[in-house]
Amino acid sequence: MERADLVIVGGGAAGLAAAVMAGQAAPNSRIVLLEKGARVGKKLLATGNGTCNISHQNASVDSYHGGGAQRVRDALARFSWEDACRFFRSIGVETTVREDGRIYPLCTSAAAVLDCLRIAAANHADIRCESAVTALRPTANGVTVCTADGEIAAGHVLVAVGGAASPSCGGSSDGYRLLTDLGHTRTPLFPSIVQLRTDTRFVRAVKGLRVDGTVSLMLNGHRLASHTGEILFAEYGLSGPAVMQISRAAGEWERRKQGTLTAVVDLLPTISADELSALLSARREALATTPLEDFLTGLFQRRIGQTVLRMAGALPLDRRSDSLTDRELSAVVCAIKEWALDVTGTQGFGGAQVTAGGVTVTEFDENLISRRCPHVSAAGEVLDVDGDCGGYNLQWAWSSAATAVEGWRKKR
Ligand SMILES: Cc1cc2nc3c(=O)[nH]c(=O)nc-3n(C[C@H](O)[C@H](O)[C@H](O)COP(=O)(O)OP(=O)(O)OC[C@H]3O[C@@H](n4cnc5c(N)ncnc54)[C@H](O)[C@@H]3O)c2cc1C
Repeated sequence: MERADLVIVGGGAAGLAAAVMAGQAAPNSRIVLLEKGARVGKKLLATGNGTCNISHQNASVDSYHGGGAQRVRDALARFSWEDACRFFRSIGVETTVREDGRIYPLCTSAAAVLDCLRIAAANHADIRCESAVTALRPTANGVTVCTADGEIAAGHVLVAVGGAASPSCGGSSDGYRLLTDLGHTRTPLFPSIVQLRTDTRFVRAVKGLRVDGTVSLMLNGHRLASHTGEILFAEYGLSGPAVMQISRAAGEWERRKQGTLTAVVDLLPTISADELSALLSARREALATTPLEDFLTGLFQRRIGQTVLRMAGALPLDRRSDSLTDRELSAVVCAIKEWALDVTGTQGFGGAQVTAGGVTVTEFDENLISRRCPHVSAAGEVLDVDGDCGGYNLQWAWSSAATAVEGWRKKR
């Protein structure tokens, strides 16, 4: 049977980084990386809309969710965002820190990041695509790794197969099965960093348009999450960075659907309701003869303005703006500041960037070595750790890979 010191299962962010790190840490070892897809790093290519938000300057335990705060703390202490920047420089990727703390490759190309990772990994590991791992069988001094093409006797295995999110980019549930078959447990899975499905009555009329607004998620009137930034109106509901940022709470709610979840959009968060009321009163005078359908054009894009008026019940729209009553004006203020949409769910794993939940990370030691099987480690999204939107998930992939490789190196 073929033998290897380390078999890395999964050629995504964590697996490719681990191959480079393991090769650097133990240059004479035999490392094999097995990837299910036709190519490595398919999901990495899609990150940051093709620009790859590699990390975040504020990466700390506070930006992560799941069961293993201490594991996250340990991994970030071992391999921080600065270490990530140094690592990427060592393989040819220059990085830049943006004003908001997000870190990107200077060339803003996920393809270039993947190329550098792939080339560096190939210097150290035998990379095999279309090699799905079907089972891991512990032996006395290692693990037998089973694929359709045969078996490999591995001294150690690193499971870096990612999570269930975005199956079109290689997301799969394989890792949960591989690890639960070894005796691990898995916490409930739900999509995060995902678009929201809502009541579409008025949203459809503005689909494709974007605003800089605040979106809040309210459960039975109690605020669960809120974020200000770009909101994109879509055929099915709401998308855009601000929505993705708060979507974890919707994913969690969707699992049980207890209570009524509402997304409340403030289309003008920089102006208070009183200021807006005064502004609209002044506008009513200044634009007295303008048809009502264009009363809000200029404050918003035309289609948004007209939709707001319809929502407020300020109909018909073919009358003069100065015919707007005070009562109607108050309703318009309310529609702008508190556009409430019933949430029906999320766009599911198909639309999600990340999987919340996963294999219980506390069943792995501080080096991310399995407590069930000492010749197995895990890294990346397969574990029950997920980060906020902003580079935190890739930082977890790098930090957990570095931790797992360090654990393997120490144990050899
Ligand atoms: C559209 C999109 C945009 C994103 N943008 C960002 C961003 O800008 N910043 C950020 O921090 N995060 C981003 N993310 C999240 C981030 O990409 C993931 O969290 C990260 O890739 C997880 O790394 P991973 O190595 O654990 O898994 P993956 O990168 O998913 O890699 C897992 C690999 O394992 C392979 N595999 C699966 N099963 C098997 C098997 N049985 N045998 C062998 N191989 C297998 C898969 O084919 C895959 O290649 C984005 C995600 C998506 C979908």
